Amino acid sequence: MADKKEVRVYNSMTQQKEALRPAVEGKVGMYVCGVTAYDFSHLGHGRAGVAFDVLYRYLLHLGYEVTYVRNFTDVDDKIIRRSNETGENPLDLSNRFCQEYLTDMADLQCLPPTHQPRVSDHMEQIKDMITQIINNDCAYVVDGDVFFAVDKISNYGCLSGQKLENHRAGERVAVDSRKRNPADFALWKAAKPGEPSWESPWGLGRPGWHIECSAMSAHYLSFKFDIHGGGIDLIFPHHENEIAQSRAACQESCVSYWMHNGHVTNNNEKMSKSLGNFFTIRQITERYHPLALRHFLISAHYRSPLNYSVLQLEGASEAVYYIYQTLQDCEDTLSSFREATPSEGTEPKGKTVRVLPDAEKCIKGLQKDFHDKMADDLNTSHVLTGAFQDALKFINNNMNTLKILEQLKAKALIRADLTEEQISRLIEERILARKEKDFAKSDQIRADLTVKGIALMDVGTETIWRPCVPVEQEEKLPS
Ligand SMILES: [Zn+2]
Repeated sequence: MADKKEVRVYNSMTQQKEALRPAVEGKVGMYVCGVTAYDFSHLGHGRAGVAFDVLYRYLLHLGYEVTYVRNFTDVDDKIIRRSNETGENPLDLSNRFCQEYLTDMADLQCLPPTHQPRVSDHMEQIKDMITQIINNDCAYVVDGDVFFAVDKISNYGCLSGQKLENHRAGERVAVDSRKRNPADFALWKAAKPGEPSWESPWGLGRPGWHIECSAMSAHYLSFKFDIHGGGIDLIFPHHENEIAQSRAACQESCVSYWMHNGHVTNNNEKMSKSLGNFFTIRQITERYHPLALRHFLISAHYRSPLNYSVLQLEGASEAVYYIYQTLQDCEDTLSSFREATPSEGTEPKGKTVRVLPDAEKCIKGLQKDFHDKMADDLNTSHVLTGAFQDALKFINNNMNTLKILEQLKAKALIRADLTEEQISRLIEERILARKEKDFAKSDQIRADLTVKGIALMDVGTETIWRPCVPVEQEEKLPS
């Protein structure tokens, strides 16, 4: 482990920050709900992708072996509706938008998850789980549909705090009179004409939305795993139903930590397809670099709402420019120190760069600040504004100083009519002379250089040079 520090994450189930203790030491199993692929992904999807990529990368950085599963919903009402509009085969249509999503995620520098399962590839696992739930008497079949019976689960509502008696399932869709409880939901839907369908013990049909995540998480991570994530709007009903299904299929099923990222809002209203107030990732990345978008997305804590703001995107773009400009300047300034100047042996020999005490202090401060803030429920917004900014300032100040020093030395070389290489050779000769106890020679080398305005200085085991007032000229200077 890079750091033994305890990582604390906010668990939506207990509504508090808890120490992350994976079931198997050193290994983390993590499932995150992905997208329903029927259109280009919007900023909310980008935020979820980046939030859990930050978690994934941080856990990898700490040395955990992480199995990260993020699904694609490629069988769904919305996909079927869209394909009916366009005439494209629903699976082809969703495959196309799965690819577009992957392009967006790659642009946003999100690492690909370990597994990216699709519903259409996991029908057997889904049907097996439904069968198990029916066998455990927690679901019932009506005319080729299978419904989950919510009142068979004692703790239904444990994640969302929703009470069964409060459910008003008829608010958006008329309640299906075949349901025993209005809150019951479909595990399997009987095929309708023109819809994609699969054979099942209950006739031709397709899965309901929630069952896929129970089935695929169990398939890749088993019934017990560490982290389940997704957008905050998935807490109810999606994640509540997942918990119910998984418990109904396997009593021991358990997710240790439920993690949810906040909404992206526009004018402080949730950004969503249904409200039509959304921007796609693609619309933003046409005008801003994807790294600027990523910077904007992590500039707020992942659980806070994040309001879409052109001003903040501009700020993020500038911040990313500053970071990469600093890196570029470092590369330019430091490249001469890295250049291997081959000497007699085969070993490449570069200039030795000493780490100054305040540089070391700055680096240690940055590392500590990063870990303290990341370990506190991934506080990326504080990481970006804390010691990281101090470090960038420190680097830029030092590079300016270094540049001026190098310029002063270059002028001193011109006045001395010497090259850097010639001085290096003289330094080596002097070291050799001292080794051979030929101090007359070593003193002569030093004195000859001093006359030319080059002072040799022994620092620790190495010898460096700096410009000085040429000794003879100094004597002639008027006092
Ligand atoms: Zn899900």
